Amino acid sequence: MEFTKSIQAFQEALEYIPGGVNSPVRSFRSVESDPVFIESAQGSKVRDIDGNEYIDYVGSWGPMILGHAHPDVLKALSETMQKGTSFGAPTLLETEMAKQVRKMMPSIESVRMVNSGTEATMSALRLARGYTGRDLVIKFEGCYHGHNDSFLIAAGSGALTFGTPNTPGVTTGTAHDTLTAQFNDLDSVAAHFEKHGDNIAALIIEPVTGNMGVVIPTKEFMQGVRDLCTKHGALLIFDEVMTGFRVAKGGAQSLLGIEPDLTTLGKIIGGGLPVGAYGGKKEIMDHLAPQGPVYQAGTLSGNPLAMAAGLTQLRLLDNDSMIYDDLERKAGMLEEGLKNNLRELDFPAVVNRVGSMFTLFFTKEEKVTSFADVMKCDTKVFSDYFKYSLESGIYLAPSQFEAGFVSAAHTDEDIQRTIEASYNALKKIKQ
Ligand code: PLP
Repeated sequence: MEFTKSIQAFQEALEYIPGGVNSPVRSFRSVESDPVFIESAQGSKVRDIDGNEYIDYVGSWGPMILGHAHPDVLKALSETMQKGTSFGAPTLLETEMAKQVRKMMPSIESVRMVNSGTEATMSALRLARGYTGRDLVIKFEGCYHGHNDSFLIAAGSGALTFGTPNTPGVTTGTAHDTLTAQFNDLDSVAAHFEKHGDNIAALIIEPVTGNMGVVIPTKEFMQGVRDLCTKHGALLIFDEVMTGFRVAKGGAQSLLGIEPDLTTLGKIIGGGLPVGAYGGKKEIMDHLAPQGPVYQAGTLSGNPLAMAAGLTQLRLLDNDSMIYDDLERKAGMLEEGLKNNLRELDFPAVVNRVGSMFTLFFTKEEKVTSFADVMKCDTKVFSDYFKYSLESGIYLAPSQFEAGFVSAAHTDEDIQRTIEASYNALKKIKQ
């Protein structure tokens, strides 16, 4: 495969853009390589500026559950933009979006649209603090909730990949207000509540993690977290920016059978445009301005183009009774294929998957159920695997600590090709 144009483009970008990218996770630095520059995408495939085509498992980091350039989404966008692109005044589309979100995720009685997942979690935390009159928040090591100061403490995703889970620039005061616990370890949560129970405003969690790779919670852990929050009067915030409408139509909360007080959303609800949202019980949401005293605002919030793309995508997901079954079938096929490869080659690794989200962890451990397990992974092996995959036309997230996404546009043939490419990559690493 030729990457000449991408290499040149990256050299030029480095002159003008910090690190050459507008979000660190796009850089291939952790796999000691240069990123490919994307020219276009269609269905399950992305094409770079050198003309190489890849089966895409990044899906813009989650939003593209229907695949790229879905005709209905494009049609909605082109019709909507003819009427103007932003008004800074209410539109019918925003209420339609709120109704659709509530229908698919009934714990969200009332929802506020924002422009990114970061804004959603930042605003949800402010609301939780304003509502409870408390300061502290509990988050989990390896979970990522966007780049708000309060959450860049033991953070996952790019912060973990690039070795800055506690970034410079966050004041010690802010860092003090964030308590960290261990995913799947209820005692680590209980200890915080015992010590600070009456000053904990909220606990925020990725109910299935994606930002340290896919780690699945036990039922007891999640129920225990819910019970501790209720007992101590702290709000339980499910950060479903990644899992919302992804792992199931009703998000991770429907799979787990646990109702959070607030939910943060992003990615899929924007259909590929910049969007976030947070919502929950009306009684809590009514504390937001202008109804209540907690301030939060946005010039472009509820932008018509973002609403049109997101609403179209959500309705397609809601109305097609087979879509989640089909995602499960295809992602299951991929999981089985990857596991067969590992068995056949006697290659030590673990595949974790929930619905269409998966991670192949390169570890000698039997299971990956905690951040500590994740940290035992061999990132050098991942790096080689990533490069061999790319060269055989498979586009994965360039980090061991991320999830892969299967979309409705992936075909059985795509999955089969991916399994074969994975086999070949593992074989080369073994040599
Ligand atoms: N929360 C979770 C669980 C995420 O996965 C992400 C992004 O990957 C965010 C929050 C931040 O969203 P955004 O990148 O749109 O700000």
